[in-house]
Amino acid sequence: MLEFSGEQQLIQSEIQKLCASYEDEYWQAKDRDAEYPEEFVEDLAEHGWLGTIIPEAYGGTGYDTLEAALILEEIAASGAGFSGSMACHGAMFVPRSILNYGSEEMKETYLPKLASGEKYLQCFGLTEPDAGYESTAITTNAEKDGDRYLINGQKTWCSRFYASDYMVLVARTTPIDEVEKKTEGLTLFLVDIEDALDQGAVDTQKIEKSIRRAVPSYEIWFEDLEVPEANVIGEVDDGFYQVMDGLNEERVVIAAEAVGLARVAIERAVQYANEREVFDRPIGANQAIQHPLADAHARTTSARNLVYQAARAFKDGRDVGEAANIAVYMAREAASKAADHAVQTHGGYGVATEYDVERYYREARLAHIAPISDEMIKNYIGEHVLDLPRSY
Ligand SMILES: Cc1cc2nc3c(=O)[nH]c(=O)nc-3n(C[C@H](O)[C@H](O)[C@H](O)COP(=O)(O)OP(=O)(O)OC[C@H]3O[C@@H](n4cnc5c(N)ncnc54)[C@H](O)[C@@H]3O)c2cc1C
Repeated sequence: MLEFSGEQQLIQSEIQKLCASYEDEYWQAKDRDAEYPEEFVEDLAEHGWLGTIIPEAYGGTGYDTLEAALILEEIAASGAGFSGSMACHGAMFVPRSILNYGSEEMKETYLPKLASGEKYLQCFGLTEPDAGYESTAITTNAEKDGDRYLINGQKTWCSRFYASDYMVLVARTTPIDEVEKKTEGLTLFLVDIEDALDQGAVDTQKIEKSIRRAVPSYEIWFEDLEVPEANVIGEVDDGFYQVMDGLNEERVVIAAEAVGLARVAIERAVQYANEREVFDRPIGANQAIQHPLADAHARTTSARNLVYQAARAFKDGRDVGEAANIAVYMAREAASKAADHAVQTHGGYGVATEYDVERYYREARLAHIAPISDEMIKNYIGEHVLDLPRSY
């Protein structure tokens, strides 16, 4: 079983305490009304938790991915599910590009504001309608014009756009037909959202969806958006590898969230299985109810080990691609099984929103699609771990 240090256990209990003020009814209403849980995120920010991955030198806590994973797991496990964890998880990986690749001036300008909760950097714009998972096929382009860039194009599925002050945007600075490898020619930009809206250079459309309704995602169109050259993160044309760093970290934290979701689904199912009596006995006495929950617990415990192995590898600066992909693959499998059994355990009430397990079931499904699909993970394992020929 996993062991955490005293400090890490303190983080877990602090998050549990904070989350206890947000009861099931709060999350049910947010999901029903498709309303962002602003109070919850502000509460986390006021307590400094959104500065988790920011070094102490810039006002953050100086923790790392492992602690971010612990925090997000506890948020999901509190009953908030992905409606809570994904409302704030951008803060746990989007700033990574500034931390790893930003200039000293950029770090000093932005990181203290993010650490104090004065400003939010929770939005990441990579996906495009005509590119999907093929990130190198993006066509949003940034053209240099004196000491600024002009950005034109379209992004989709950008989550938390209006809940952020800044977004990290990936654009082509060299067209795909002018580069040797299609991974070349991509650049990361830090976009000031208020400035972009003031310029009138951005148009948005909320995507209506049935899962994770509390955390909105948008299609975004950019027309001659002016971004100062100083807002380029890292090297021009070399953004692909910077993006990959952030995506691996995102996988680790999402895997932790999936473990949290699995935990709460099992917890609710066990409670119901002990309380609900038909045929003169608690339904949990039936092996058909008990064994799937035992199975889900075993899978969740196993996935949790993989998640923290990956988080430790990330913290130690080791190559984390294989560990992060396997962790997220197994964790969402565990979450899906747990949520499915939780619904089944609740019988008819499994689909009643007041019991929450139907929301956990919907949220677990999302993890098989975003941020990376099951198929793309298997492509990665096939090609990069098993050394099989590229299948696409
Ligand atoms: C709720 C939500 C929030 C999101 N938030 C963000 C965000 O904040 N920022 C952002 O940039 N993106 C975000 N995304 C985008 C997400 O990360 C995916 O990249 C995106 O949904 C995939 O694009 P697509 O739907 O066009 O899939 P496609 O690329 O069209 O794929 C469709 C299907 O085909 C399969 N497929 C495609 N190619 C292959 C292949 N070679 N081998 C096997 N199978 C294949 C895929 O696995 C998938 O099942 C979000 C998505 C969702 C649903």
